[in-house]
Formats: sequence, C-alpha cells, structure tokens
Amino acid sequence: MTSIGFIGLGNMGNPMAANLVDAGHKVTGFDLAVDVMDVARGNGVDIAGSVVEASAGKEVVITMLPAGTHVLSVYDEVMEEAMPGTLFIDCSTIDVASARKAHQLAGAAEMLSIDAPVSGGVGGAKAATLTFMAGGEQSAFDKAEPVLDAMAGRIVYCGDAGAGQSAKICNNMILGISMIGVGEAFVLAEKLGLSHQALFDVASTSSGQCWSINTYCPVPGPVPTSPANNGYKPGFAVDLMLKDLKLAQEAAQKSGAITPLGAEATQLYSLFSALGNGNMDFSGIIEFMRGSQK
Ligand code: NAD
Repeated sequence: MTSIGFIGLGNMGNPMAANLVDAGHKVTGFDLAVDVMDVARGNGVDIAGSVVEASAGKEVVITMLPAGTHVLSVYDEVMEEAMPGTLFIDCSTIDVASARKAHQLAGAAEMLSIDAPVSGGVGGAKAATLTFMAGGEQSAFDKAEPVLDAMAGRIVYCGDAGAGQSAKICNNMILGISMIGVGEAFVLAEKLGLSHQALFDVASTSSGQCWSINTYCPVPGPVPTSPANNGYKPGFAVDLMLKDLKLAQEAAQKSGAITPLGAEATQLYSLFSALGNGNMDFSGIIEFMRGSQK
C-alpha cells in the first residue's frame, strides 16, 4: 500500500483515483470543485482541505490538471511542505516547457518526478486501461511504475524530463492530421460514387491503413464501434484534440520544427470548434470536409 495525494479529481482524475483505491492504496484527494470531491469521497478517497494537505507526508503525489499553469502553481504551493523524496507524477497533458519546469521545481526541492500524460480518455480511466507515456529519471520511473499499474493498460518509458509530454503531442498530431486525411478520402469517394465499405475494404488493408480508418472510421458502417455510428458523440472531443494540436504547435515553434500539416490541422479543428462543434467527437471533422457541418 502506498500513500498517495491526488490533486485534480475531474473527468479523468476521479476514476483514476478510484482505481488506486481499488488497488489497495491510501488515496487523499483535493480539487477546487466541491461536487467532484463528493464523488471521490463516495469512491473511498479521503478528502483534504487544500493541495498542501493532500500532498504533505505522502509517498506519491499525482496531479491531473487542465494545463501547465495549474501544475506549476500547485507544485509551487506544495513543494515546501512535502516530504523530501516524495515522487511527483504529473498525468495532465501540458506544454513541454512547463513539464520541464515542473521537474526542475521538484528536483530543487529534493523530490523525484515524472511527467506521465495518458491516452485512452475517460473510458480508459474508468477501465484502468490508460496508456501512460513517461519522462524523467529512470529511478523515478521505476518507483512510479507499480503505482501507474493500477490505472494502466500500457506504460511506456519515453526518456528524460518532458519526454512523456513530447510523445503525447507528437502522437496526437499524427492522429489529428490522419483523421483529416481519412475524412477527405471518404468525401472524395462519395463524390466519385465509391461506397464507404469499398473504400474501407481497400484502404484498411492497403497502404492507406491507419488507426483513423481501421479502428475509428469516421463514416458509419465499416467499424461499428466508431463514434460515427453514434452521432459523433465523444470519444475524444474536438476541443481536446485542439488543445493537443496547439501544444504541438507551441512546441514546434519553440524547437524550430517545421510542421505545416500540424499547423493546418490546428486551423481546421479551430474553425470547426468555433462553429459550435467543440464537444463533438474529433472524427466529426469529416462533416467540415463535406461542408455539411452546422
Ligand atoms: P477536468 O476539467 O474534468 O478536470 C480537471 C480538474 O482540475 C477540475 O476538476 C478542476 O477543478 C481541477 N483543478 C484545477 N485547478 C486546480 C487546483 N489548483 N487545485 C485542485 N484542483 C484543480 O479535465 P479532465 O478531462 O479530467 O482532464 C485532465 C487532464 O487530462 C487535462 O490535462 C487533459 O488534457 C488530460 N486528458 C484528458 C482526456 C479526456 O478524455 N478527458 C484524455 C487524455 C488526457
């Protein structure tokens, strides 16, 4: 049993904390929102009165927060009160520069730290099948692995500080771009009188194959579990994809990487969101390609 402070009990954090409790850990949680703390209490999480109380005296502190500014402000607040040697695991999706700064804050206070963003969404958080992408010292990762295990389907060590966040945004940039490409191909097929099933049968087994077509096909029919069969209910919402694409663009600008398709995808999802589709599954971008979005 490990004593764990869990800060940020939202859509992802709450089910993750519940899985840690189920695995036998002693979890103390805190969130700024009272309603989510009530849910956590019902799941067996002890509730603290502040971020400092949630992290003081714990072996591990996990954060699952909206953005880099939140993570850095929590780290600023709690470092002095936490036990030296505490392992800080940030599972939020944040910009690479803030992730590296968070590692510095932890290191300066003699703490261990890893960045460990996830993919798999709320469904994966509930089912304890998240993929964790981790960055930081190998020794910190080794200590984190058994804790992450209670929430994970897969855990990948990606390298030094910030490597987890780097892997996450690179992966999601591929995904955002590839979904647009697949959407365009289906729209062209429609114009040419080619059926969805015929394009799927060819592309999903040929050189066009990718997750966006094989697993998450953006038209109803060929992959019955894809959101296209469910009115594009997320899944992974347009606004979450947009957040990750913007983080990728920020990282590209800071590092000098040339990512024209990443930039274009960011523009397209931005427009699609601005038209009122931010809560739609991101594969609904095909509606934008058709010119048939609301
Ligand atoms: P959410 O908005 O539901 O939860 C974030 C929680 O953090 C909120 O409850 C908020 O009150 C709390 N919070 C903010 N500042 C705080 C502070 N200073 N102290 C304590 N609590 C604070 O968001 P979410 O969907 O749970 O996502 C969390 C992170 O996980 C984000 O970085 C997101 O990008 C990432 N993520 C989300 C998904 C998804 O499908 N929702 C998938 C992968 C990654």
